Amino acid sequence: MDLFEHQAKALFATRGVPVPTGRTATTPEQAREIAAELGGRVVVKAQVKVGGRGKAGGVKVADGPADAQEKAGAILGMDIKGHTVHSVLVEQASDIAEEYYASFLLDRANRTFLAMASREGGVEIEEVAVTKPEALARIPIDALIGVDAAKAREIAAAAQLPEAALDGAADLLVKLWDVFVSADATLVEVNPLILTGDGHVVALDGKVTLDDNANFRHPENAALVDDSAIDPLEQKAKEKHLNYVKLEGEVGIIGNGAGLVMSTLDVVSYAGEEFGGMKPANFLDIGGGASAEVMANGLSIILSDPAVKSVFVNIFGGITACDAVANGIVSALGILGDVSTPLVVRLDGNNAVEGRRILAEANLPAVTPVDTMDGAAKLAAQLAAA
Ligand code: GDP
Ligand code: MN
Repeated sequence: MDLFEHQAKALFATRGVPVPTGRTATTPEQAREIAAELGGRVVVKAQVKVGGRGKAGGVKVADGPADAQEKAGAILGMDIKGHTVHSVLVEQASDIAEEYYASFLLDRANRTFLAMASREGGVEIEEVAVTKPEALARIPIDALIGVDAAKAREIAAAAQLPEAALDGAADLLVKLWDVFVSADATLVEVNPLILTGDGHVVALDGKVTLDDNANFRHPENAALVDDSAIDPLEQKAKEKHLNYVKLEGEVGIIGNGAGLVMSTLDVVSYAGEEFGGMKPANFLDIGGGASAEVMANGLSIILSDPAVKSVFVNIFGGITACDAVANGIVSALGILGDVSTPLVVRLDGNNAVEGRRILAEANLPAVTPVDTMDGAAKLAAQLAAA
């Protein structure tokens, strides 16, 4: 999970990383109140999970409360690279002498952690990496040793930070590493890391990616989830513990096993070309135990997607045999009641013959059994286009 800047800075502050004082606002009036509390010049910053906000006009310095209200009014509702601005961070403006760059990240390719730092900050670091690679220091971090004062100093020196910034930057890097480890992050990035006019080193921006695999260790992370960005169908699927991903197409997909579902997506996309480009509407793996309840939950989510015009249920019987799945489909349709969307069902593998017999006997108007995967994909695509 990626954090908003204001969440990243709040996390930084818990470990003593210096950040400007500020709060978020969702209305221009709130922005004015916060600016009045802070006093002096403030900066109003769009809270969207995408970089380059400054260039896009999403970061503006304001003279005082009235100006902050006006700037917030201009930024709220703005679209930045496809992200709508729902809130702004209003902070005490900083007196910037110089802008640097610093980050810690999981370096998957080298199976280690990596510190990156540069004297050239504020600009897009990807650009620095390409045009001036010598200006971007890369220092591997031993996970067992971490970043102590000496290591932090080594990083700051390798980044060629000026003498005036060395102590402050090294101190900040030790704390930033502490954030990285304690929050189970895979990235903490500060761009720009600034040296202020009076010689302090401060994190002026913050980007954090948390490792979702460690969420069980961090109940507090639940409060950081941005509900406004979650697809409602994916949210509903998550509540039912289903492995569902919304896609762009028209053919709803249910299968058992991630590999089978992935290949089903391919087969449906291929078959759909013949019918005006029909595509899969989702990924849904109902896993091993395809009980009636799981099948009903899966079907109900897929059928509540208005884009879905047909459904392909692709089951390869293994430990859960096809007859059990067939019974699951029959009772799922009983639970759901009136289903008008056509379902194409392919059953193969363990007890396929018995499974097909159960479906045939149930004689469900919405269901068409097809014996092969290719044939079923083709029919599902054809029905979606009809
Ligand atoms: P980004 O463009 O999304 O990375 O947003 P940043 O938070 O990095 O802000 C972009 C730029 O705005 C920074 O590099 C600064 O030059 C400028 N900026 C941000 N905050 C302040 C501030 O408090 N005072 C001044 N003078 N400039 C700021
Ligand atoms: Mn930035």
